[in-house]
Amino acid sequence: MKISQIRTHLLEHRLETAFESASMRFDTRRHVLIEVICDDGTVGWGECLGPAGPNAAMVAAYAPLLVGRDPLETEKLWAELYNAFRDQGQRGIAVTALSGIDMALWDIKGKHFGVPISTLLGGRFRSEVRAYATGFFKLDGVDRVEDAALQAARYRAEGFHATKIKIGFDPEEDLRVIAAVRKAVGPDMGLMIDGNHGYDALEAIQVGRKAAQYDIAWFEEPIVPEQLEAYRAVRQGQPIPLAGGETWHTRYGMRAPIEQRCVDIVQPDIGGCGGFTEARRIADFASLHSIRVVPHVWGTAVQIAAALQFMAAMVPDPVRLKPIEPILEFDRTDNPFRQAVVTTPLEVVDGVLAIPDGPGLGIEIDRAALKHFAPR
Ligand SMILES: [Mg+2]
Repeated sequence: MKISQIRTHLLEHRLETAFESASMRFDTRRHVLIEVICDDGTVGWGECLGPAGPNAAMVAAYAPLLVGRDPLETEKLWAELYNAFRDQGQRGIAVTALSGIDMALWDIKGKHFGVPISTLLGGRFRSEVRAYATGFFKLDGVDRVEDAALQAARYRAEGFHATKIKIGFDPEEDLRVIAAVRKAVGPDMGLMIDGNHGYDALEAIQVGRKAAQYDIAWFEEPIVPEQLEAYRAVRQGQPIPLAGGETWHTRYGMRAPIEQRCVDIVQPDIGGCGGFTEARRIADFASLHSIRVVPHVWGTAVQIAAALQFMAAMVPDPVRLKPIEPILEFDRTDNPFRQAVVTTPLEVVDGVLAIPDGPGLGIEIDRAALKHFAPR
């Protein structure tokens, strides 16, 4: 079996209501899927985190290095592709594009051997995971505090056990949003907060100290990801466990934050950190330092399926009779093609997602949907 072609599929949808995190505005949803086609007809799918167009361009730059190669040699291809752009591509688009390619190669490998990727990764510790709802972005023309209470009640009614609130806009208003959510969901639901690196260190410490009374499970990306010393100061200066890592790429990028204990929870994205090949190394490294791993997920059902396969095979740490179970990030913002790209949507039922057990990623792509959401 040899790789014969690499294709990218851009997906685009103009949103009726634009929304914002602390750092980014979304008026259009744009994602890119990677299709790796083999000479025997086997096809693998992947998805890259981050800007779709630049990722597609970078995948095209890798393509000549892949055509004619054996797709089962995932480790070898990863090393060669990474090395080809190493001098300028140690993080960012070079790695996110490589992540989508690696994901597709593992999908091919699973299909070739007739097993899910979780089996290739060493076996399943679980067949389902609990999902937490990511929402609470700032919607155009909507009062954040009122909207937060409504959203929170909705997620609770939908069966989610936990939810993550977007903050990092304005400390005072952010704290009112957190208070409104806690009031709306009661004491039992898990709450996390995500600053999307909107604060400076002092703001983050002050918000963390005041938000702790609302029983917050983690404080994600309080400050910009480059400032590791400030991460340590925020971790020490307020009581909520810190989380981060969606923009720390490869084992090299994860090394310092993990070794220096900048976070309590590290969040590699399978479509961003270097694919399955690199995510498993990062998880092993985090485990060496007793830092918890909760994958970051932002994208379509392809990304979700990849996270599910990875999470199925995550080794409990510690192994014990009733282990700590990983939880899946489940984006609740408007994205009509999120589930449309697969023939069987990956649905949350009573707050839980079943992990597909078909070959590879365990999903089938709906090509009509790819056409429907292609940019015009
Ligand atoms: Mg985040």
